[in-house]
Amino acid sequence: MTALAALLKARIAASGPMTLAEYMADCLLHPRHGYYATRDPFGQAGDFTTAPEISQMFGELVGLCLAQAWLDQGAPAPFTLAELGPGRGTLMADALRATRAVPGFHAAARVVLVEASATLRQVQRATLKDHPVTWADSAEALPDAPLFLIANEFFDALPIRQFTRAGEGWAETVVGLAGDRLAFGKTAPAPLAALSHRLADTAEGDVVELCPAAPPTAQQIGARIAAHGGAALLIDYGDWRSRGDTFQALKDHRFTDPLAAPGAADLTAHVDFEALAQAAAPARASRMIEQGLWLRRLGIDARAERLARGLSGAALQSHLAAHRRLTEATEMGSLFKALAFYPSAFPPPPGFDA
Ligand code: SAH
Repeated sequence: MTALAALLKARIAASGPMTLAEYMADCLLHPRHGYYATRDPFGQAGDFTTAPEISQMFGELVGLCLAQAWLDQGAPAPFTLAELGPGRGTLMADALRATRAVPGFHAAARVVLVEASATLRQVQRATLKDHPVTWADSAEALPDAPLFLIANEFFDALPIRQFTRAGEGWAETVVGLAGDRLAFGKTAPAPLAALSHRLADTAEGDVVELCPAAPPTAQQIGARIAAHGGAALLIDYGDWRSRGDTFQALKDHRFTDPLAAPGAADLTAHVDFEALAQAAAPARASRMIEQGLWLRRLGIDARAERLARGLSGAALQSHLAAHRRLTEATEMGSLFKALAFYPSAFPPPPGFDA
């Protein structure tokens, strides 16, 4: 049993079952026992691998996309170059390297990393040691300035609440106790204003999820982009509208029981891009696009071919596999989607449709 499991069981015994959002928040970010607070979870030796850890091409193309959007908006200076949940800092390092040759971009950029984990801030500091960077606790703390922002696999880590349709109401999934074990339970069904719009497209027993922190975060970003210019690239697994139980735990690159080892497994849920897009106003939201198509439009095939020329043997095979993994529909190409925010006076960033 993890130390966090003992804490959570004691709390449930004293004050009753917790929502999934409360459970997720403690499992991921508890200051002493939380998953992100206590480790660097990425890569082969960790629990999961993300696009920037798979290939340098991902961060390069993201960086060039943002730099082109910056040029299209008249190269505002200074501007905030921000990342939400930067992990190891790999994406930002690749983006900065790829944009070195864009005149004025580095001189005007103030790099701000929004990161909750003190452990990962240290890793980011080391990865980005050649660049001045500062950290912020939330999107709300970003400067009032033109904002060019990337969030890859950030929103999937934000705590969700989960509801099952029951008549005209909803039963919420909670974490309680069954004997000495953590166990899922459900509250008695009740109407919920936040889900009234889902009564039309769900049936008895259907499951939907809400991510309470996602719209306010998207709204903070949209407000800055509308007021000062900029662009945001939001990339994650999910779809246009939440449907079904997507709450999941990953440990050692395998799916596991989300209640088995609180604080020792990564917990996520699929992202509802409709909820993000609706919170962008007064900035515009692009159409959601599959990651594979977006990366192809940005030129990943040409970049992959260029990099392949310098490689042979196992390094070449692994590069080709990384290219397939990022783009093919059977790998990350379709499950992952991208959405952009941009000011109404400008076109969407490269690769996106208005
Ligand atoms: N973008 C990186 C890492 C994704 S993992 C990549 O693609 O590799 C999620 C990241 O978000 C981690 O850095 C985690 O510590 C951070 N994070 C999770 N919840 C957060 C929150 N509420 N506020 C700030 N950072 C958070």
